[in-house]
Amino acid sequence: MKILLASLCLISLLVILPSVFAASSSSEDFDFFYFVQQWPGSYCDTQKTCCYPTSGKPAADFGIHGLWPNYKDGTYPSNCDDTKPFDKSTISDLITSMTKSWPTLACPSGSGDAFWEHEWEKHGTCSESVIDQHEYFQTALDLKQKTDLLGALTKAGINPDGKSYSLESIRDSIKESIGFTPWIECNRDESGNSQLYQVYLCVDRSGSGLIECPVFPHGKCGTEIEFPSF
Ligand code: 5GP
Ligand code: 5GP
Repeated sequence: MKILLASLCLISLLVILPSVFAASSSSEDFDFFYFVQQWPGSYCDTQKTCCYPTSGKPAADFGIHGLWPNYKDGTYPSNCDDTKPFDKSTISDLITSMTKSWPTLACPSGSGDAFWEHEWEKHGTCSESVIDQHEYFQTALDLKQKTDLLGALTKAGINPDGKSYSLESIRDSIKESIGFTPWIECNRDESGNSQLYQVYLCVDRSGSGLIECPVFPHGKCGTEIEFPSF
């Protein structure tokens, strides 16, 4: 009798489990990540003002915007799991690094919680088939450490001094130093000049390393763009 019960249990597990896994992974599947960093000077000098975070003026360096799951066809999933809200207590060991490397510039001034919560809920929840909430933020911080964009640019003589640089030289200097071709997003300063706003790099599905982008986002910069100070 015991053996019969045990085998019944085993059979039902074998039948149920695969369907559970299939359901959870297909709803959160994706092909790669965009790792997106923003230049604070270009967030702040537009027609919309910016606000420094409550921790003070961020460093004059690129800051993390987000780690975004994406599909190879250019589309992307968002807001994948409202049962997993942002939970600061699971990342308490990362807050010091996040305050430094992932500062918020939106108004009104905040600690960063609202920005991190938005990024987790919109994008992070779509990577749950691969990484949990702690790993999501840790992965972004590790990527920031490994990709010194400002170092790559300044090494090539491209400085945040309000001057114009060719888009090609910006792209090439990052490729030269980091090893992968970035995608550059521009916005416009108050006078309407096109400027270096965000840099996209692509990351494999597991979040462990950079890859060449399977597809680039849309949008256009001028051939010469400004690199404003901050
Ligand atoms: P925007 O329309 O300002 O370019 O983007 C607004 C927001 O949409 C971004 O901050 C990001 O959350 C999301 N988004 C825009 N483009 C992409 C993309 O190519 N991939 C992913 N995963 N998200 C994107
Ligand atoms: P996404 O564009 O990633 O969908 O959304 C960005 C959201 O985060 C916006 O609602 C924006 O107001 C908020 N946010 C807070 N701080 C920042 C920041 O420093 N940069 C950007 N791009 N968005 C921020």
